[in-house]
Amino acid sequence: MNCYIDNHNPKQKSYQEVTEYIIRKRKTNRREIEAETGYSWGTVSSVVSLLLDSGLVEEIDGESNPHGRKARWLVPNGKKFAAIGIDLNSDVFTLTALGIDGSLLFEDKRKFEKKTMSEFNLLFYSMLDEAISKTEKERKIVSIGVSCQGAICDDHSIFTNFSFVEDWKATDIKKELENRYKIFTFVEHDTHCVAEDYVTDNKPNGDNFLIVRVVSGIGFSIYSHGKFFERIAPVDFGHTVVEHVNGEPCHCGATGCLEAYSSSTGIIRRSGAKTFEEIKRNPSKFESYLNDAGYYLGLALVNARRLFDFRTIVLTGDVIEADAKIIDSIKRFFDERNRNLMEEVKIVFLPGLSASSGAAKLSIVERFASNNLLNAE
Ligand SMILES: [Zn+2]
Repeated sequence: MNCYIDNHNPKQKSYQEVTEYIIRKRKTNRREIEAETGYSWGTVSSVVSLLLDSGLVEEIDGESNPHGRKARWLVPNGKKFAAIGIDLNSDVFTLTALGIDGSLLFEDKRKFEKKTMSEFNLLFYSMLDEAISKTEKERKIVSIGVSCQGAICDDHSIFTNFSFVEDWKATDIKKELENRYKIFTFVEHDTHCVAEDYVTDNKPNGDNFLIVRVVSGIGFSIYSHGKFFERIAPVDFGHTVVEHVNGEPCHCGATGCLEAYSSSTGIIRRSGAKTFEEIKRNPSKFESYLNDAGYYLGLALVNARRLFDFRTIVLTGDVIEADAKIIDSIKRFFDERNRNLMEEVKIVFLPGLSASSGAAKLSIVERFASNNLLNAE
């Protein structure tokens, strides 16, 4: 049964807020929920018992305290409920299935080669069809998260532009998936999804940070005071100008953009190789392109630091993971230009952050956040 939250009905509102708190927190207890949500012990207890009955939340034993009493923890039940995340990259689609407690169930990666709308539809739906039927054998799926590059309109719904697909038609992915699978769907920028993967596992204490994902394009998200800087179109960090005179041509049609030097697409084009793997097999040549890529990323990051007061830069993505030398090159330029900054900026390299896993995590949180469908019981 689907029903919308009625905020005038106090029972439903408390149910929704307590559920959302447990989903976000991942491990908590009744006392903490009482203190943090402001609901009375009685309300918290009755909502928690409903959640335990429905199986959405389970209670597990924690460590014993000095008096020998075991703590009891409330955790989202990943054995019964799951979410699917899918990341749409220009070369490869990656799908991750997670329990709602964040546990990894399985992953699927497939090449996106011809880059046409019909190939997109075939690959996208066959990956989802298979993953959903596999997951539903053991768990109920509460949400699907879709991570994509480019602009997303209409409240996390329409994926307007996939610039690598020539015949791309703006697609209301949320509507299509919700019609097809009857599962709540949330569409988000890939870098936000990667950032969510970072935030849920690293708990950055509300510090401002910047996350830069360097793949075939360059994504950029700003996280400030516990929230992402929200916008419809992506912050076009990848197309900020780093070389005005005789700049390299960029796939966006302009010249001298950061992506023309530092993305895998830019490195492939400059080297004349056919694929990123091909240029990687020629270490001496690859090193000079990586040096350039690092130099221009450092330059763009220095400018970004002048605009936003962040203390940490998190770097991730295939290009960064290809060779650690790029980090030295970024740091060299960044440190040289930032000697006079009052606050030190940490540059953190985090391999393995996953946009598909982040999309699944974000979709779970959004699924239980205010005003979304409440139909998991
Ligand atoms: Zn460009």
